[in-house]
Amino acid sequence: GSVIGILGGGQLGRMLSVAASRLGYRCHIFEPGAAPAGHVAEVLFTAPYEDEAALRRFAEGVDVITYEFENVPTSALDLLESLKPIRPNRRALAVSQDRISEKAFLNDLGLTTAPWAQVDSEADLRVAAEKIGLPAILKTTRLGYDGKGQARLTSDADIPGAWAAMAGAPAVLEGFVDFEREISVIAARGLDGRVAAYDPGENVHREGILRTTTVPARISAGQRSDAVLLAAKILNALDYVGVMGVELFVTRAGLIVNEIAPRVHNSGHWTQQGCAVDQFEQHIRAVAGLPLGDGARYADVVMENLIGADVEKVPALLEERGVAVHLYGKGAHRPGRKMGHVNRVSG
Ligand code: ATP
Ligand code: MG
Ligand code: MG
Repeated sequence: GSVIGILGGGQLGRMLSVAASRLGYRCHIFEPGAAPAGHVAEVLFTAPYEDEAALRRFAEGVDVITYEFENVPTSALDLLESLKPIRPNRRALAVSQDRISEKAFLNDLGLTTAPWAQVDSEADLRVAAEKIGLPAILKTTRLGYDGKGQARLTSDADIPGAWAAMAGAPAVLEGFVDFEREISVIAARGLDGRVAAYDPGENVHREGILRTTTVPARISAGQRSDAVLLAAKILNALDYVGVMGVELFVTRAGLIVNEIAPRVHNSGHWTQQGCAVDQFEQHIRAVAGLPLGDGARYADVVMENLIGADVEKVPALLEERGVAVHLYGKGAHRPGRKMGHVNRVSG
């Protein structure tokens, strides 16, 4: 098809549109919030996901539908799926929308997650804390991102406050993983079932938000191939088409899956300067049914997010050698808001 529909008008959708445009495709974006700043798509729908007529008009105008955001209501997907192909498929999205279905899926595949227990009340939390042990992290099962909807528990005294922080939402308690480092695999699977993975990146988070991704990650060759094979197993099991981000904890006992994101991923932004075919082009290639790029890495890269007032460093960053600046056109900065990122290239 020649028109790609993207659900979500954030920076990931914007960068997907740029990549699609470079391959000669046009993009239509469906964004339920306010009109996104700095979008580059040709047609923009701003309507809630409950607006069936708007969803129908959106679907009519496109050949294939993808998304940049995993919290699209499945009711909207049911309607869209009856009109046009959705890639990645509904199951990939449904599984990763809910931390409990995600962990159950991963465990069924034989992959290790942090020990976890479902928590729907303060009494459940007491039982779960007893079973899993502390320290632990309580997370809402749905809608969390950038560490939002999470509470850390170090002692039983934290139980009432942590449960209150969930505001009544269903939650999951996860044992705290004493990791050596965090890495992620950005992997793609094409319509023909071929898988291409990028080199794992090493991630540093601060206050629950990704700060930097560095390639190469400081891992052994064995850990690198374990990580890539594990990601491929997930993509194959979901009959996945598109790019996925798989977040992993590296521990002495092996790799533990933190979470999966059925979309292009912040920790894959380094590919824009490190690879011939970046994650955005790779995703567009996959959903459009084109052959995938190989994922080979041609440089060492450090990606740094520009969060909140970090964006004021841009004039100085533009003076630096080997630095590519990516800005999302969001206007005013606020604490915790992702305004852009830079890729520092060497080697
Ligand atoms: P995003 O979707 O933006 O990546 P999120 O809100 O879904 O973030 P998580 O990935 O669950 O949040 O957690 C954010 C960070 O908190 C992790 O990358 C890790 O640094 C830390 N963290 C989360 N869960 C655990 C855990 N069980 N043990 C140790 N650290 C954890
Ligand atoms: Mg997440
Ligand atoms: Mg995460």
